[in-house]
Amino acid sequence: MLAKRRLGRTNLDVSLLGFGGIPIMRVEREIAHRAIRAAIDLGVDFIDTARGYGDSEQKIGSALKGIGARPVVASKSPRRDGEGMLADFAKSLENLGLDHIEIYQLHCVNTMEEYEKAMASDGAYQALESLRSQGRLGFIGITSHNLQIIRRAIDSAKFDTIQILFNLLEPEASDDIIPSALDHDVGIIAMKPLAGGCIEDYELGLKFALAQPGVVAIAGMADEEEVRLNVEVAGRPCELSAQDWKCIEELRSSIGKHYCRRCDYCQPCPQNIPISFALHIENIRKRIGDEMMRTDAYRDLLAKVEDCEKCGRCEEKCPFDLPVRDLISRASSILSEVLR
Ligand code: SF4
Ligand code: SF4
Repeated sequence: MLAKRRLGRTNLDVSLLGFGGIPIMRVEREIAHRAIRAAIDLGVDFIDTARGYGDSEQKIGSALKGIGARPVVASKSPRRDGEGMLADFAKSLENLGLDHIEIYQLHCVNTMEEYEKAMASDGAYQALESLRSQGRLGFIGITSHNLQIIRRAIDSAKFDTIQILFNLLEPEASDDIIPSALDHDVGIIAMKPLAGGCIEDYELGLKFALAQPGVVAIAGMADEEEVRLNVEVAGRPCELSAQDWKCIEELRSSIGKHYCRRCDYCQPCPQNIPISFALHIENIRKRIGDEMMRTDAYRDLLAKVEDCEKCGRCEEKCPFDLPVRDLISRASSILSEVLR
């Protein structure tokens, strides 16, 4: 059975490995059901999904129907206004077939403007507070790629959980954010332990995230086989050996030369290109598949990357010396292949 970790002040004890609900978007319902039920049978009792993950909520809802086990379910919405958040929460309840959700998160709050909007008196946070006082929601969380926003959320004392990027290529949260969240008794959920598919050595990638005390790592899993592999790693002792550290350093120096850390120091781009989003397009494709990418959001992204004027300002600002112009061209080719 998998070890448990306490999710901060929620007092929920959940398996240190959670089921990440993105990849089930791209598989048939039956395959998703089998993956979810296998995970539960093997001791995974935390599932994370989102309104924005296609039919992930529906698949989780139907997989949970008729089985005795009741894992902790977390979902999230990108809405920053109160009305929109209430509508999304109601939709999540319906999709998941639940009358109560343990954790609901402000999804991907990546700018201070979005944070302010969500925290305003008519914003999404207040809507979640009202749902909590009605007993329809247990705890309120926030997810972000931006550690400054997470810092602000922890200091506000308003959030029960944070969901952060944490993997061997993006370990920065361990410097200050994770210790601070532990001090404030905020539950810590680590997303993208395999850097969205960029770390191919899944054993080492997962072990690195799980070795961080106090963190619950959610790994995306599409089928039973992936579930079994991940659970097997999570069931072993997760201390990192000298050999592991050697491999981590090697991976950092090889992948790190073209891996975008989503810090957004390269912004603003004069052509308004969402550079970090574009630079992760290959991994997004691996996770969600071509079919799910044939939407206006990705067509807009293609139009934007095609507008890159190769001015190089992004490269001057990137602290990791990434060849951003070449990577934008690559993103453009991938998007063209998928969309045309
Ligand atoms: S090179 Fe392209 S992506 Fe970079 S700042 Fe210029 S226009 Fe933006
Ligand atoms: S391209 Fe460089 S500066 Fe821009 S988000 Fe990625 S790592 Fe950060």
